[in-house]
Amino acid sequence: MLFHAAFRGQMKKPCGGRLFWRFIVAIFRIRYKIGSVINLARKEYPMLRYLTVFLPAWLAMAGLPCAQAGEVLVLHNVNVVPMDEERVLTERTVTIRDGMIVDIRAADEADPPDDAEVIDGSGKYLMPGLAEMHAHVPGGGQPEEYRHDVLFLYLANGVTLIRGMLGDPVHLEMREQLAGGELLGPRLIAADPAFSGRIAPTPERGAELARKQKEAGYDFIKVASGSREAFDAMVEAAREVGIEFSGHVPAAVGVPRALEARYASIDHLDAYMPTLVDPEETADIEGGFFGFRLAPYVEKERIREMARRTREAGVWNVPTETLMHAVLIWDLDTIRDERPEFRYMPPDIVDRWVETVRNRREDRLYDREAAEAFVQVRLDLIRALHEEGAGLLLGSDAPQFFNVPGFSIHPEMELMERAGLSRFEVLKMGTVNPAVFFQEEDRFGRVAEGMRADLILLEANPLEDLAHVRQVAGVIRSGKWLPREEIDRRLEAIAERHAGEE
Ligand SMILES: [Zn+2]
Repeated sequence: MLFHAAFRGQMKKPCGGRLFWRFIVAIFRIRYKIGSVINLARKEYPMLRYLTVFLPAWLAMAGLPCAQAGEVLVLHNVNVVPMDEERVLTERTVTIRDGMIVDIRAADEADPPDDAEVIDGSGKYLMPGLAEMHAHVPGGGQPEEYRHDVLFLYLANGVTLIRGMLGDPVHLEMREQLAGGELLGPRLIAADPAFSGRIAPTPERGAELARKQKEAGYDFIKVASGSREAFDAMVEAAREVGIEFSGHVPAAVGVPRALEARYASIDHLDAYMPTLVDPEETADIEGGFFGFRLAPYVEKERIREMARRTREAGVWNVPTETLMHAVLIWDLDTIRDERPEFRYMPPDIVDRWVETVRNRREDRLYDREAAEAFVQVRLDLIRALHEEGAGLLLGSDAPQFFNVPGFSIHPEMELMERAGLSRFEVLKMGTVNPAVFFQEEDRFGRVAEGMRADLILLEANPLEDLAHVRQVAGVIRSGKWLPREEIDRRLEAIAERHAGEE
């Protein structure tokens, strides 16, 4: 309990030595009440009494963590990338207390309190922590150690918020533990275990699911598959009880209905492909993976039209381009060399990724030309969505096909830049936009006073090159400083463990 509350940063709690002295005072008070017994013991074995009482007490208490609450973390002389507009505030001192940014001022005007932990930020850049808006967290059926590894891998890359896209009852508990700081990792927004044709085969079951998941405490409903009737019933019940839904767009639903039903977010740009082609011309074509085989038939003007309709509906998109490139494009012979972060994943999972993708590429439906056209159409669609003012969120779908949690956010950002977004706009997709999406603009997503201290300290300016986001000097999660050395030490421990499994 002490550990929990201390990390939560809510109240001042004694720790280690301080607690020990309080204990001594308490013992002396008790001594007066049971004086005769104590006196007797003192006469017989004076030293023994001290040892038997104080030694175990010291041992028990010295290891207790000190309260984080009221503790102050100061980033001194740092360049701030506030993300409110495209700018850098040079040489600032940022003061963090109780997990919140409480003060930002010119470094030469700053006077950190004596008890503050001061980090020298000279030459470094402080930006808001990133959100991975299409994350996966292993469920209760997976080893706890693996779940914790995944959470840490996100955090190691400066991902301080994840939207879990396939729920599990264990996530509800993890969400609280992560919020309270008992578990090391990003904040978790938890999907339910998904709406699908299997779980909700009828309208009655669809409606029931929405009510049940709201009551269970999930943050939103993940849509996976299902019939139009069950989907409609789910949507109606979800509106009634006040729970949002996001994810796939079942073929029977389609994007026009998804926009009308107001998905919170459509993920993977799912089901957009059929809206971009002439249905008669393509009636006989098997679409394959996310309809990629329709790409050669896409009519450009339809892209703009769908982008405009998406903006009008106020529906957000999480493109997850790395997933498409992993399955259809990236070179399987070189991928292991290009992704040194594979060593942080269990080797059997990496083997399965490579094998599954290899099988897909050998499938009769695989068509390299269509695949290349497809990823380009998607970049055009992302650009059109952006230009029309439809909301975009950063998400790479990890852990999934070559996407190691946290690490996969970097290629995803590169692909967003390739789509035509400025670096500032790409960074917004992972910072400001998620805050707007969750209606928490005044809580996170920018570096400003009053914001939650979920931050990344970088060696170089991310606005100059998105690759600089890889150069993490340290991560701050809820005001707690995680330096590079600590990140490396933990990463190495994960890699060593997996090396032993091969
Ligand atoms: Zn996913």
